[in-house]
Amino acid sequence: MELKYLGLNTLEYDEKKCTGCGMCEIVCPLRIFRINGKKAEITAKEKCIECGACSLNCAFGAITVDSGPGCAAAVLASGLKKGSKAACNC
Ligand code: SF4
Ligand code: SF4
Repeated sequence: MELKYLGLNTLEYDEKKCTGCGMCEIVCPLRIFRINGKKAEITAKEKCIECGACSLNCAFGAITVDSGPGCAAAVLASGLKKGSKAACNC
């Protein structure tokens, strides 16, 4: 079964600032960034959960994303509660 996403997220990528270091490809849990030649490219923007890992680890300011409270934060918070199952409760 193919998962469906709303695609409403704030992920932005500026190719001009990208050096191709590869950090975004390494840290993204959903493999949304891929290095193609000497630049990163976004493979599936709509799948981004706004965790912020790519932006935090891009030393060149090529990625911005509003990683405020969202599904990812809710899943992490609920998963840390004793006896509860990780869920975002969307
Ligand atoms: S972390 Fe930033 S500079 Fe490095 S490849 Fe990704 S977008 Fe480009
Ligand atoms: S915010 Fe998280 S899920 Fe979205 S592209 Fe960056 S690392 Fe991947």
